[in-house]
Amino acid sequence: MEIDFLKYTDGLVPAIVQDSNTKTVLMLGFMNREAFDKTNETGKVTFFSRSKNRLWTKGEESGNFLLLKEIKTDCDKDTLLVKAEPAGPVCHTGADTCWSEENTSADFLYYLETVIEGRKGEDADKSYVSSLFKKGTNKIAQKVGEEAVELVIEAKDNNDDLFLNEAADLLFHYLILLNQKGFRLKDVMDILESRHKK
Ligand code: AMP
Ligand code: ZN
Ligand code: ZN
Ligand code: ZN
Repeated sequence: MEIDFLKYTDGLVPAIVQDSNTKTVLMLGFMNREAFDKTNETGKVTFFSRSKNRLWTKGEESGNFLLLKEIKTDCDKDTLLVKAEPAGPVCHTGADTCWSEENTSADFLYYLETVIEGRKGEDADKSYVSSLFKKGTNKIAQKVGEEAVELVIEAKDNNDDLFLNEAADLLFHYLILLNQKGFRLKDVMDILESRHKK
């Protein structure tokens, strides 16, 4: 891959790290040629730390590595977009990302999907979502139906609080049903988007 490391006098290019699943912006670091090569060799995102003045593999102390999926350059090859799967919280404050406040509710929905996915293998008695997965497709679909009916009932009343809570219940169970059928919210979004373009 062609990268213009010499564009800046210090030989460092900015590397924006994005969660490969949720698309959330996780952090910003800088890479020189060595850091870039090490990242590709080890599969663990490695920067050149300006404060440490050495190569720094994110997670080297905390264990919260960034597992490399893909690296892309921008239009003029002087900035990197690093797509990675975080093994744990990315920010040194313990937050999931260095821009917690900037990430939107839509990002949270994608995050929630990964939480739901993670509940699949867990003990049914420990988690509500796991217990639903154990019961299978029909039961999950039935729950979606029930929540939809509850939403319809609350829509007829004038209690905003109850209405919103049923809307949340429906969305939550909808995500579980999508997962059970082997899909993600992204698959539905793609259909909506393609319809919109027509
Ligand atoms: P880690 O690489 O996660 O083992 O963290 C080691 C050290 O790197 C921390 O003590 C921080 O000084 C620094 N650090 C960790 N995560 C970040 C981050 N997202 N942005 C900037 N510095 C970080
Ligand atoms: Zn550029
Ligand atoms: Zn941070
Ligand atoms: Zn409900």
